[in-house]
Amino acid sequence: KDAATESTEGTPPPPPAEAILGATETKEFQAETKKLLDIVANSLYTDKEVFLREIVSNASDALEKRRYAEVTGSAEEGAGEMAISITTDSEAGTLTITDSGIGMSRDDLVANLGTIASSGSKRFVQQLADTAGDGASAASANVIGQFGVGFYSVFMVADHVTVYSRQHGAEAGHCWRSSGDGAYELSEASNVAAGTKIVLTLKEEEKRFASRWAVEANLRKYSSFVGFPVSVDGERA
Ligand code: ADP
Ligand code: MG
Repeated sequence: KDAATESTEGTPPPPPAEAILGATETKEFQAETKKLLDIVANSLYTDKEVFLREIVSNASDALEKRRYAEVTGSAEEGAGEMAISITTDSEAGTLTITDSGIGMSRDDLVANLGTIASSGSKRFVQQLADTAGDGASAASANVIGQFGVGFYSVFMVADHVTVYSRQHGAEAGHCWRSSGDGAYELSEASNVAAGTKIVLTLKEEEKRFASRWAVEANLRKYSSFVGFPVSVDGERA
């Protein structure tokens, strides 16, 4: 065997990178979602690290949904292990969270990430309406911790977020992308693995979250009861 073969033994080549196919559609968030995002992005909330708990819990929920769909026969047995994998790139300031869960169709992406889905967010927006709050006061009142704003909490730390998702058995995967500033982009994408991959490009001042050490500490603090294996940079957390 030559040296080149030898050195790559046991490490399969990385899968090809996702690529956007065709036209990108730009869609506006709902008015109430915009209001929520504005508050989250400008939040003075000190426990910004909870964003990872929200993303990991969504990944765990998605795996649970896949398991249920397979057990009840409403979905074909998907390929690949049931797991959550996190990779860090502190140089680039990115954090990538991948799950092999149920995945989202284009319509799911619009419905679940484009509108207010989480019950915490709903209650929060309701309170805003009730108090005719101007947002600023709400933001300073630690509402994010109080309500739990789910997926949107990523915008406390991320400059922009890219989500790749595909349902098991579906041909087409999709890419959803937003800076949380009023609109999101949606397109079809190639090379999307079944499940969901979320790439957070952190704000300059939040890059500390993109280190393996920080992720491991965060998982120990907030996500120690996740019912699926979680790895960080290839090693079981
Ligand atoms: P909640 O988890 O309370 O429903 P979130 O704001 O955390 O609210 O997430 C919104 C929705 O987006 C979820 O209900 C789910 O339908 C969808 N979603 C988020 N992350 C994933 C994921 N990794 N895989 C599949 N669906 C997801
Ligand atoms: Mg959630």
